[in-house]
Amino acid sequence: MTGEVTYNRKSNRRYNSYTDWFSTLFGKRVQKVSINAGFTCPNRDGTLGSGGCTYCNNEAFIPAYCTHDLSVTGQIERGIAFHRKRYRRAENFLAYFQAYTNTYAAMERLKALYDEALSYPGVLGIVIGTRPDCINSDMLDYLAELSRDYFVIVEYGIESTNDDILRHINRGHDFASAVRAVTETAEKGIYTGAHLIFGLPGESRAQIIDSAAAISALPLSSLKIHQLQLVKGTPMAEEYRSNPERFDLYTLEEYLELVIAFCERLSPSLMIERISGEAPPGMLDDPRDWDKRSNEIFRLFEALLESKDTWQGRLYNK
Ligand code: SF4
Repeated sequence: MTGEVTYNRKSNRRYNSYTDWFSTLFGKRVQKVSINAGFTCPNRDGTLGSGGCTYCNNEAFIPAYCTHDLSVTGQIERGIAFHRKRYRRAENFLAYFQAYTNTYAAMERLKALYDEALSYPGVLGIVIGTRPDCINSDMLDYLAELSRDYFVIVEYGIESTNDDILRHINRGHDFASAVRAVTETAEKGIYTGAHLIFGLPGESRAQIIDSAAAISALPLSSLKIHQLQLVKGTPMAEEYRSNPERFDLYTLEEYLELVIAFCERLSPSLMIERISGEAPPGMLDDPRDWDKRSNEIFRLFEALLESKDTWQGRLYNK
């Protein structure tokens, strides 16, 4: 399942919808099931550092049904049961290797984990969340091979295009590393996703809006944008307490304006999957309470595009 992603010009949406692409690609409802395969990350195990990115607490975004003491098969079973109770019944799934850095292991272990997921009945593919500096040609060759028969997307945490900001948040890689990883992945015919965080300390709204050009220049298939959320126990929550002036904690209205301004400058070929994150409220140490779920925020985004009579790519390359 490889190939070019093309902008759905027949769609009446004002942005390039990942959900629509999925419907076209699979022709049926496909549910993502998250997996915590027990990986760590080089920014935590001492290889690059031990403290991790300053905003990171993986517990804040991994669903409760994922525990790495269960096998991949066990987690898929549990994830399917979880989704069946809450949402419309889906018969097909994507295994989402979500927790920590999901290419950070020897090839044999990675192959065993991915193959286990792909052999589960109804699993049509894998989504692999990772860092741009944790991929190599052998892995990509293997993923390219898998993607002949399955849906495969590698999602890279890029977070910012600004190296000063990446240094400040202790990412342990620069933007050039993201450019290399995304380019090599796409060249192998594998779908690529990126994750960005808006609101990192020191990054201005103008810089974020301008970064749409650098992101658009990458051969990405899709994009997830999240607002910065201050999570309890993280160095960033501590930094906010001691230096609140470094932070621009947007109101929901300001955030939506920022996302719209960014999307107006974004290539229309890039699909938008998410525009906000949702850590459990009990884990947050954040003075804001937007009091909205991610799906509600997405609907506000769509309504604002409409009321402003604007769209993704309106100012692209202008
Ligand atoms: S955000 Fe990702 S790369 Fe950074 S410390 Fe957490 S798991 Fe590691």
